[in-house]
Amino acid sequence: MKISGDHEEQSREAGQAAGYCWARNPNRAGRCTRPPHHDGQHVDRYNGRSALTDTTGSTWS
Ligand SMILES: [Zn+2]
Repeated sequence: MKISGDHEEQSREAGQAAGYCWARNPNRAGRCTRPPHHDGQHVDRYNGRSALTDTTGSTWS
């Protein structure tokens, strides 16, 4: 899926409105699902898990 700059910004605003940091994961598809302005690494809880029972997925800083 190709995302233009305008759509990228709208998507980020929508994510933040929903209570997510929503920073793009630079390594793979997905976005940060932690609250905005959190400390430490970004975490995508919905991508990068090796099992459904994993509590965290991809992380990046
Ligand atoms: Zn984040």
